[in-house]
Amino acid sequence: MESRPDYDAVVIGGGPAGSTAAYLLGRFGHRVALFERQRYPRDKLCAGCLSQKSVRFLERVYSLPVPALRKEGLLDFTGTDYALYIGSNRVLAEDLAEPFHFTRRERYDTYLAHKAAEAGAEIHEGVDVTAIDHVNRIVTTSDGEQYTARAIIGADGIHSRVRRSLPDSAIDPERWNKNLGWALELAIPREEAEVRMSEEATIRLSDGLTTPCLVLDVCRWGYGWVFPNREEIIVGIGGLIEKNRRGLPDRLREFLKVVGLSAFEERKPAGWPLPFGNYITSPAYEGTLLVGDAGGFASPILGEGIFYAHRTAELAAHAVDRHITTGAPLAGTYTSLLNRRLIPELQAEMRLRDFIYRCLDARMYIPLVALMRTTRRRVIDAVQGSRSFRRFRHDEDLHTAVW
Ligand SMILES: Cc1cc2nc3c(=O)[nH]c(=O)nc-3n(C[C@H](O)[C@H](O)[C@H](O)COP(=O)(O)OP(=O)(O)OC[C@H]3O[C@@H](n4cnc5c(N)ncnc54)[C@H](O)[C@@H]3O)c2cc1C
Repeated sequence: MESRPDYDAVVIGGGPAGSTAAYLLGRFGHRVALFERQRYPRDKLCAGCLSQKSVRFLERVYSLPVPALRKEGLLDFTGTDYALYIGSNRVLAEDLAEPFHFTRRERYDTYLAHKAAEAGAEIHEGVDVTAIDHVNRIVTTSDGEQYTARAIIGADGIHSRVRRSLPDSAIDPERWNKNLGWALELAIPREEAEVRMSEEATIRLSDGLTTPCLVLDVCRWGYGWVFPNREEIIVGIGGLIEKNRRGLPDRLREFLKVVGLSAFEERKPAGWPLPFGNYITSPAYEGTLLVGDAGGFASPILGEGIFYAHRTAELAAHAVDRHITTGAPLAGTYTSLLNRRLIPELQAEMRLRDFIYRCLDARMYIPLVALMRTTRRRVIDAVQGSRSFRRFRHDEDLHTAVW
């Protein structure tokens, strides 16, 4: 007789993707273990912007509407307007119908890991998964233990060991590398930024540094951002590695000058890879599914990944549940859910990304600006998730419960 696996599911990585998968599987009544190599509270380089896509997800799946997020201390700042620049020319600046919220990842991720534990998942902190046998569904951990499971969820971020252990045929490394971004970010204490801001700036940041600001054309196939937090100002740039080679540190220095923060150019920025359109369309192999950054799931235009981490984890949790309860094929169920609920949206956003950056490469500023101004409301709605990037129509695929 076949022996019972140790767990129904093993989740590797405890960021927003891993914790959401573990939380849902726990709620479905499955036996789940989550292995996180660090200990909470652990930080993750991130500007912490939560679009309305994430806000809606947190309300629908975690029953956490905005007042509850605030009460739990998960919202650090709320931006009620935005400004978009091309170089130093302001193209758009207006109030938002719905705000962007900003969170601090050490708090956000710790909170979500606790929610997974409350839902019944075993959380193993400080445990690194060192090897994965996808066919026999066994994971080996840094303490030499081995665990069997009916399904393995790789939620181990952009450097994912789980992804790197899959065969090339499952992940298309060429496409992955072509669409992989790199980001550099500085967190500047708000008081210091206010005192040391230069008058020479070509982009004058808002009084009180409250307006989230996006700047195109500061690097190739990417953008710069200045995002307000309560205590800090987050300044960063991110773009495709292939298009920028090693030029990003210089571009960040120039960007700091443009926004009047060159006093901080000697500070060492933190750097981290960023998914920028390298999502894998069939991120499943044998007993293993990839979610979140591990599968390259983030907005191809903005690199916003928190929502996509949550949503892919939700789809994966449902695929695991169907596999266990009905015997449905694990990989096939996950990829078909993804292809129905998420991939068409990412493909449409990718087409818009390519169009915008080709226009910038060709210096076609005037038609691009005209198009941005006429479509701005629809694009903001698509970023916030109330419209689809597919012809900007109203579409609920991103938000509907899976069943
Ligand atoms: C500079 C920058 C700014 C960003 N700003 C935003 C933003 O404003 N808004 C937004 O939505 N997104 C933003 N993102 C993207 C966002 O941070 C990611 O998309 C998101 O963190 C993905 O979540 P995840 O759970 O997939 O992975 P992660 O959050 O990276 O979590 C992966 C976890 O796996 C663990 N792990 C790794 N390997 C192992 C192993 N072998 N065993 C056990 N554990 C392991 C890691 O310790 C980590 O805790 C930004 C990214 C960068 C780089």
